[in-house]
Amino acid sequence: MAQQDDVFKKIVSHAKEYGFVFPSSEIYDGLSAVYDYGQNGVELKNNIKRYWWDAMTLLHENIVGIDSAIFMHPTIWKASGHVDAFNDPLIDNRDSKKRYRADVLIEEDIAKLDDKIEKEVAKARKRFGESFDEALFRETNPRIREIKAERDALHERFSQAMNDSNLEELRQIIIDREIVCPISGTRNWTEVRQFNLMFRTEMGSTADGAMSVYLRPETAQGIFVNFLNVQKTGRMRVPFGIAQIGKAFRNEIVARQFIFRMREFEQMEMQFFVRPGTELQWFQTWKEFRLKWHKALGLGDDKYRYHDHEKLAHYANAATDIEFRMPFGFKEVEGIHSRTNFDLSQHEKFSGKNIKYFDPELNESYVPYVIETSIGVDRMFLSVLCSSYEEQQLEGGDKRVVLHLPAPLAPVKCAVMPLVKKDGLPDKAREIVDDLKFDFSTHYDEKDSIGKRYRRQDAIGTPFCITVDHQTLEDNTVTLRERDSMEQTRVSIADLHKLIHNNVSINSLLRKLK
Ligand code: ATP
Repeated sequence: MAQQDDVFKKIVSHAKEYGFVFPSSEIYDGLSAVYDYGQNGVELKNNIKRYWWDAMTLLHENIVGIDSAIFMHPTIWKASGHVDAFNDPLIDNRDSKKRYRADVLIEEDIAKLDDKIEKEVAKARKRFGESFDEALFRETNPRIREIKAERDALHERFSQAMNDSNLEELRQIIIDREIVCPISGTRNWTEVRQFNLMFRTEMGSTADGAMSVYLRPETAQGIFVNFLNVQKTGRMRVPFGIAQIGKAFRNEIVARQFIFRMREFEQMEMQFFVRPGTELQWFQTWKEFRLKWHKALGLGDDKYRYHDHEKLAHYANAATDIEFRMPFGFKEVEGIHSRTNFDLSQHEKFSGKNIKYFDPELNESYVPYVIETSIGVDRMFLSVLCSSYEEQQLEGGDKRVVLHLPAPLAPVKCAVMPLVKKDGLPDKAREIVDDLKFDFSTHYDEKDSIGKRYRRQDAIGTPFCITVDHQTLEDNTVTLRERDSMEQTRVSIADLHKLIHNNVSINSLLRKLK
């Protein structure tokens, strides 16, 4: 774990050093859990968004996009349940004065018991070697059965307390389990309180009678309240979807792990409206499609897993997370939820407007059911960054840090370098840049040795380096160096465009989703 922490620290400082992610307001000592994206970060982020947007809207003729405002009528958040129930249970340690999410403290305690079981299994695997029957061992080993029983009882008690929003019981679990504050090491806990995660601000001057509005905590509600607008103006027929990318804000109690949990972040959400009764089939379809979208990036199939929810929100009838193996464990990157007709029905009730869809095939009106896919851009960014980062030991004792970014997501696609700064090589290199720049983000670099220039591009994940040398002036060929293999091939300038395009276009990813 310590080693993983180390790697994560290195990734965070690499992200800063190479212009991917900066702490917000850094010259004023930063603002907690808020980050800015730098010159390379914004390109990587835009490419992730483009990949998602195109996968939704280009590949599905029944999905269209919108861009709704961040401010919305405050009653929307009453209808959606966010005013009353978008809470986290918080608890303070009186000695360290640190604040924690009570549910997270208990979840971590459950995870410790899971770890204990895995350790027992790993020990036995080592002891028994080839003949080890893991399933049988898990079922029959007395020590494992004992830990498992303890874990299940704790989990049951915790789920019940969360379902009932029983704050006293949550505190009692923390006391009974003797959970200590990781900073002070004491069990001097306050009461558990509910804390609403929405940011509130005032709209209009006080003279007019200002209105309290919220910064949206999710983009989905902007889709729901525009359901009829889009359906009617786009002449959409159920099943159809509406996609949106935009900022969301949550006043997270414990914001840590870099851009994993931020107070201002970005979401890519799609609400898919279906006939009542068909939602579980569609849930399955979207669950599979979304995992395929992730896997097409080639970050490693073993890095993903589903986490099906046992405890469902009161309006949901199925929910799963797509988790990604971050350096700090498997973590949620995307949620896929079958939200029934809860949101649209609530908006019907609170607005007094009819939000039904007339289904011409069934000749009846109904409030459609909804499957939601909801992914955080920043968490996606983090998963791409973490799995791409490598410190590589090269032959001859050299080292390089390389980002093996999927080429279509890389911020810079190619860098053109004259071997030396004379003999007309810079002019020739500039000519190539001036041609390629219309289609690809292209760098020109003539400073330092060629080796150093390659390293700089490796560190930001540029898939191709093009070197112009004296031979180029004679036969219009250059060397094309590939980032991961470091292989160099001699190619004609006339072929560059095609060679690069085949590797870096988002299109090449989209084709894998057919
Ligand atoms: P968590 O349990 O980690 O708080 P959540 O279940 O509340 O997440 P959702 O409400 O389902 O998250 O939001 C959908 C997606 O938005 C998440 O899968 C995640 O990628 C992203 N997301 C949610 N909260 C944050 C945050 N504070 N910072 C960055 N991304 C976030």
